[in-house]
Amino acid sequence: MEKNPHPSIASSTSEMTSKKRIALVAHDYRKRDLIDWAEYNKDILKEHQLFGTGTTGGLIADKLGIPVQRFMSGPLGGDQQIGAAIAEGKLDILIFFWDPLQAQPHDVDVKALLRIAIVYNIPLACNRASADFLISSELLDKSYERYLVDYGARLKHLSTEE
Ligand code: PGA
Repeated sequence: MEKNPHPSIASSTSEMTSKKRIALVAHDYRKRDLIDWAEYNKDILKEHQLFGTGTTGGLIADKLGIPVQRFMSGPLGGDQQIGAAIAEGKLDILIFFWDPLQAQPHDVDVKALLRIAIVYNIPLACNRASADFLISSELLDKSYERYLVDYGARLKHLSTEE
């Protein structure tokens, strides 16, 4: 049988509804920036379902006065919980203002979360300009078929290569 030269091409999609499930995470020195961005975009964000790591989620809920479903604090497992929710198809978008100037005690969790967002092809913004472009997208309040790369086929292909 001829080998597939492009084994990572998508084999399926996942539907994102018009109401998006948006996860908000910011490291300590980036929290002010994310809260300011969220306040500026409150009218848009309140039409969607918001999630966040413990501290970030609490601060945003207080400032905006809208519900934010909170996971644990990032260093205590919140990033991993968000990653798991992405893998389980329970989150649609990740806004993650990570700190480029300071190592975190949970750096490995941060890397894992960023990786899983790529694996499941969810929209990901890590700075304010990207978040601005994302939130102003005409796709935000439309349903959208998200392309899922068939990594399983790729792994199988690699394991059968001579
Ligand atoms: P926090 O976690 O919102 O609980 O501070 C953020 C993070 O470090 O991932």
